[in-house]
Order: sequence, then C-alpha cells, then structure tokens
Amino acid sequence: MESFTFARAADAREAIALASSRSETRYLGGGTNLVDLMRETIERPRTLIDVTGLANEIAVRGDGAVVIGAAVTNTALAEHRHIRTLYPVLSRAILAGASAQIRNMATVGGNLLQRTRCYYFYDNEAAACNKRAPGSGCDARDGFNRIHAILGASPACVATHPSDMCVALSALDAIVHVDGPNGPRTIPMTDFHRLPEDRPDIETMLETGELITAIELPAAAIARRSTYRKVRDRASYAFALVSVAAAIDVQDGVVADVRLALGGVAHKPWRAHQVERLLVGQPATHAAFRVAAEAELADAVPLRDNAFKIELARRTIAATLADLVP
Ligand SMILES: Cc1cc2nc3c(=O)[nH]c(=O)nc-3n(C[C@H](O)[C@H](O)[C@H](O)COP(=O)(O)OP(=O)(O)OC[C@H]3O[C@@H](n4cnc5c(N)ncnc54)[C@H](O)[C@@H]3O)c2cc1C
Ligand code: SF4
Repeated sequence: MESFTFARAADAREAIALASSRSETRYLGGGTNLVDLMRETIERPRTLIDVTGLANEIAVRGDGAVVIGAAVTNTALAEHRHIRTLYPVLSRAILAGASAQIRNMATVGGNLLQRTRCYYFYDNEAAACNKRAPGSGCDARDGFNRIHAILGASPACVATHPSDMCVALSALDAIVHVDGPNGPRTIPMTDFHRLPEDRPDIETMLETGELITAIELPAAAIARRSTYRKVRDRASYAFALVSVAAAIDVQDGVVADVRLALGGVAHKPWRAHQVERLLVGQPATHAAFRVAAEAELADAVPLRDNAFKIELARRTIAATLADLVP
C-alpha cells in the first residue's frame, strides 16, 4: 500500500471542499473494498476522506418514501423494520451478500461504488485490463470468463457489477442523491452505473468530487410482495452467477404490475424492461414468465465459458416470479 493522508469530514460540504482541494482523493466508507484495492496498489489515493460519520440515518417520509443516508451500514439497512416488511427484496439482497462482519462495516454509498470482481482486474502484475489501465486490452475476453457478462458487454470489457444491493435498488426505482462542487443533484439508480462501451474505467455518472449523500426509495406498494434470489457457486460468501430481484402485483390471476432486475449478467444491474413490458396483462403463470424471460435474454452473447448463464437466467427469472404468485 502506498502512503496517504487521512482526513475526517464534519459534514458533506467539508468533505466536498476537501475532495476539491486535493488531487487523487477518495471518500472512505467501510473500507471493505477500497482498502483491499489500495493494498494491491490498484487504487492509489493520496488522500482518504472518511465519510462514515455523515448521513447515517434512515428516515421514512410522510409520503411513504424512505431516505437512507449514504453512511448507513448494510446491516442496519437490511435489519430496519420498515425495509424488512415493505421492501423485503432489498433486505434479502443485502443479506445474500458478503458476510455479517463485512455487512457491519460496509456502507450504502460504498456498496454502489464497489468495483468488479473480474480476476484480471485484480491481477495488477500480469493481466491486461482496460478498466484498470485504459487502452491495455482485456484478458478476460479470451481468457477464463465463467463469471463474466452476457448482456450489454463491449469489446473493451466484459466484466459484471458485483453488488446484490444495487440489483434490488434498480428494481425499486431508487434515486441516488449526490452533492458536489456544482451543488446537489439526483440520479435514477437505473442510470447511475454505465455500460462499458469504450471506457470501462468510467463506471458511474458521478462527476469528480461528487459525494453520494443518500438513496431514496419511492413509496411502492408493489414492493411488499418482492424477493431476491441469488444463484452462486457456494451457499454463502460468493458473488452471484445470476441473481433476480423481483416484485409483482397479481389481480385475479393476471399480472397488474411487475418490477424485475438481474445481477451477475452485465456491467451494471440489469433492469429487465422486456420482462416487465411483456408480462403486464398476462396470466401469472410459469409459462408466461418463461416466455418473458426468453425475450429478455434474446440478445445475450455468451463468452467461451459462460453460456450456461443464459439458461440459468431464464430459469431463475421464471422460478423467482412463480414463487411470488399467491
Ligand atoms: C470477501 C468479500 C465478499 C463480498 N461479497 C459480496 C457479495 O456477495 N455481494 C455484494 O454485493 N458485495 C459483496 N462484497 C462487497 C461489499 O459489499 C463491498 O465491499 C462494500 O459494499 C463496499 O462498501 P464500503 O462502505 O466498505 O466501501 P469502501 O470500500 O469504503 O468504498 C468503496 C468505494 O466507494 C467510494 N465511496 C464510499 N462512500 C462514498 C460516498 N458516500 N460517496 C462517494 N463515494 C463513496 C470509495 O471512495 C470507494 O471508491 C464482498 C466483499 C468482500 C471483501
Ligand atoms: S473484463 Fe473488464 S475488468 Fe475484466 S480484464 Fe477485461 S477490461 Fe478488465
């Protein structure tokens, strides 16, 4: 690890001022990803600004929306009574990730910005990686790519986004609140992460120095009937091969509304618009779920080792929705 200066901000404005006045700064949440990357010298910030003392409350607004401070820990969010009962998909997604010890440290802001688990990205010594070193190439494309993307990838990068929580936030139409040198603004969660295109090193819509201050969950009655299913190599402590965050409203056997997002398949949490569009007004049957899942995966492009993910995603979508139908 290279040497760095450490600062603790009293509030968001001070954090942003510090970030704007020094080059190569990073905000520090729980450190569960950033510190690992610094140990490997993949990240080399000159200054770390600890933001764990800021924005660590969960507030339920009068209109039923929930505002979650960026420094709220993953554990506190998953265990919050309002989240467990009204947004079970979010609680389950968080509990499907990492370990209790990591969830106790990890923050909501840090979870959104955790980096890919592509093995070649972490191999700072020997691998070519456009995300780590733009223009150097991508060893995953023709290498061992079992965990890599089947949707939305580019010749420059085939990595997947590793977060479970972000998949649920995408299905819930969450809104990311940020503040920065040019003032506060909001970004819809579905637009927050980028597809790789020819700049996989640029992963989100955040501008330099911008701080995530909160995540807003709009009130959504549909989220009461929601769940998260994660398929992985081991029952715990493993990232998703494919995951599904789903919520559904069924009236008289017909789908009145549905929200669905996929994890483990793309460079960003993948909102399954095709599934949603095709299912509304259809009978809530396994056959209809399967047809919609097939349409969503129609443009999937497998790599050498991960064609299995296409059928896995189809089956996981259909099974997860079927489980939610009364
Ligand atoms: C062994 C292991 C297993 C894991 N398994 C899973 C899993 O199965 N599923 C899963 O989803 N995750 C998993 N994780 C990842 C874990 O969830 C992330 O490391 C964690 O969410 C990152 O949060 P953090 O607060 O520690 O972020 P940090 O490591 O502190 O920061 C991560 C990034 O976010 C930036 N940042 C932090 N806060 C802010 C802010 N407020 N505004 C702007 N930028 C900010 C930092 O500068 C840094 O770039 C695993 C991690 C480990 C180590
Ligand atoms: S898939 Fe992306 S992160 Fe992995 S080696 Fe290629 S460019 Fe790097």
